[in-house]
Amino acid sequence: MYIKQVIIDGFKSYKDQTITEPFSPKINCVVGANGSGKSNFFHAIRFVLNDAFTSMRAEERQALLHEGAGHAVLSAFVELVFDNSDGRFPIDKDEVRLRRTIGAKKDEYTLDRKHVTKQEVMNLLESAGFSRANPYYIVQQGKIMSMANMRDSERLELLKEIGGTKVYEERRRESLRI
Ligand code: ATP
Ligand code: MG
Repeated sequence: MYIKQVIIDGFKSYKDQTITEPFSPKINCVVGANGSGKSNFFHAIRFVLNDAFTSMRAEERQALLHEGAGHAVLSAFVELVFDNSDGRFPIDKDEVRLRRTIGAKKDEYTLDRKHVTKQEVMNLLESAGFSRANPYYIVQQGKIMSMANMRDSERLELLKEIGGTKVYEERRRESLRI
């Protein structure tokens, strides 16, 4: 599975709808002048994949909406188009579109244009190995060292998350509790 396209609309410096060219499943490079939106682009991806697991305060939401001279957008969205031809998402489609929309109050998700709850998104992401505790899939500066220095037990937990089995352990615990 890989992200084959990103659509950003109204998010941070991306005022107008921006649709990337299709990405390569191998290596892609993002280049641009200082302040041109490279970090914002990666933040947009994180916003859909990782930040689903964290709740935001009103000011934090506001900071994500594009704010230009004299006008601010009222809502923004980021849509990730996944190549799912390996079936990593348990959805019988080669292409899966996950969109997160944010407004002053609302925060909603659509999966292939249908509304889904945040919980459904989290379950979907976790079963594909996008973990909540350890977002290994975005390796930020300094992270490589900490991965290299992990204790064996920590590395095992990471492998469980990558394998997507941790979500079942948690569900098992929950069902035993009921
Ligand atoms: P560098 O090479 O310096 O790391 P970059 O390409 O990573 O630059 P970003 O940090 O992605 O650049 O973009 C910074 C720009 O985004 C700044 O000009 C900042 O004002 C703008 N920006 C951030 N949030 C918003 C917002 N909510 N509305 C409008 N512009 C924003
Ligand atoms: Mg940057």
